[in-house]
Amino acid sequence: MDSTTRHILDLSRRGLLRGAAGLAALAAIAPARQAGAQQAFRTWPFTLGVASGDPAPDGFVLWTRLAPEPLTPDGGMPRVALPVTWEVAEDRGFARVAASGTAIARPELAHAVHVEVAGLNAARPYFYRFRSGTEVSRVGRARTAPAPGATPARLRFVTAGCQHFEHGHFTAWAHIAEEADLDFVFHYGDYIYEYRGRVPGQPGWGPRVRQHIGEETISLADYRLRYAQYRTDPDLQAAHAAHPFLPSYDDHEVDNNWAGPHSEEDGRGRHPVAVPPEVFALRKAAAFQAWYEHMPVRAAAIPRGPDITAYRRMDFGTLARVNVLDTRQFRDDQPCSDRNGQPCAEVPRPDAQMLGTTQEAWLLAGMTDSPARWNIMAQQIPMMRRLLRGGGIAMDKWDAYPAARQRLLDGMVDRRTPNPVVLSGDVHVALASTIRRRPEDAESTAVAVEFTATSATSEGDGADMTPAGEDTLRRNPDMVLYNARRGYCVSEATAAQMTTEFVTLPFVTREGAPRMTAATFTIEAGQVALRTGGG
Ligand code: FE
Ligand code: CA
Repeated sequence: MDSTTRHILDLSRRGLLRGAAGLAALAAIAPARQAGAQQAFRTWPFTLGVASGDPAPDGFVLWTRLAPEPLTPDGGMPRVALPVTWEVAEDRGFARVAASGTAIARPELAHAVHVEVAGLNAARPYFYRFRSGTEVSRVGRARTAPAPGATPARLRFVTAGCQHFEHGHFTAWAHIAEEADLDFVFHYGDYIYEYRGRVPGQPGWGPRVRQHIGEETISLADYRLRYAQYRTDPDLQAAHAAHPFLPSYDDHEVDNNWAGPHSEEDGRGRHPVAVPPEVFALRKAAAFQAWYEHMPVRAAAIPRGPDITAYRRMDFGTLARVNVLDTRQFRDDQPCSDRNGQPCAEVPRPDAQMLGTTQEAWLLAGMTDSPARWNIMAQQIPMMRRLLRGGGIAMDKWDAYPAARQRLLDGMVDRRTPNPVVLSGDVHVALASTIRRRPEDAESTAVAVEFTATSATSEGDGADMTPAGEDTLRRNPDMVLYNARRGYCVSEATAAQMTTEFVTLPFVTREGAPRMTAATFTIEAGQVALRTGGG
């Protein structure tokens, strides 16, 4: 034990050594620490686990955060920067180390560490761990993407999201952790929910099996604590440790149904008192910073105030191109005061924006001469035509932005983009559908398929079928699945076909639910049709 370091950390934590004085004191002993000497923590600092993400052919992002007391302000850390060493090995026992280095855990980023590892071999699993002083993290498993131009035999991935902490246990994540040989987990968002903790007996949305700490999240400290609370869940930690993630966000990482500069409280309809955009921008900046701090994403996603670039593209050899999209930050406000139902006069506006002009052009550029057999749009909200009860539409989804959807579909068709596949979530039910060239015209040709993953927990146990589900299937003949249980999707693509299994759980308000299969669908490459069954 390095007693000098322990002394300084203890003093810092008591607040006796602050700011510049604390940093200077630590800097003075930094050479010793970089040489492998210890720093002292009262308790193990890797309480939030480890994660990997955004695989490339030669590497991936590694993540951890030092938080010896994860549910306290600052995670129980002194406000000083500390070195964290990392190792990547070919074997779980770390006999064959392939890369290693030192990163700095900074108080400005909640002592989160993001390492962009490069120089590794393509298309193979690696193991990783972190060390700070004498403390060692758990071991995580990551996987590099196939080399450019290579054709892997198959690609396997999970689509999941919507994990309201109060509504259920994270059993879905326990099962995802056990899924074999995943190339990645696409998280479509609603990783946290911003809502205040609901006290026992208080009525509210969904069941309540455990409680959010604190009020509705507004400040950076609020969001950090919310992520920490979610990330202390052992099932979620196990999934992160087992597979690389492709994180994105939807609305609840910031505020329910926010849209571009507009908060949910936009001064219209149900929310007559508006939060001005310049005030909402402060909340977005806090929310995006906390999202960045807790996700295994690249430095390109460090927010600049209320602006963040989270849309990005990853290729998996010639088999799949994955476009991770942002359907929140650049969209118009929801039309018709965000009230679901019959389209009002705003819906057909010709300049409707869902991705914004820059992202839309970027996406279509990536659809032009794509080298990939499967061109995946990994995004948040249903793109399929989805008529609700009474024949209305949902104002938060692509259905209420028809001009934007038409530009995208026309652009894909014009470019002859091979096998477009849309991934989505957000609606807390599992859906599978084809998307027609003109979605409002039931006679036009099908041009894409869509898999909507159900929620991991949000809305509690659910049921396989509901009256709303029967009505939805009746009104939407292209929809071949509706299931209102909790779960996720597992997809497997080869050059010839893509199979998606809809995994469901019989319950989430109790622990230990078994993994069940609600349905499996197969698409043959070159055809836009969903066939029931696998293989
Ligand atoms: Fe949700
Ligand atoms: Ca959502």
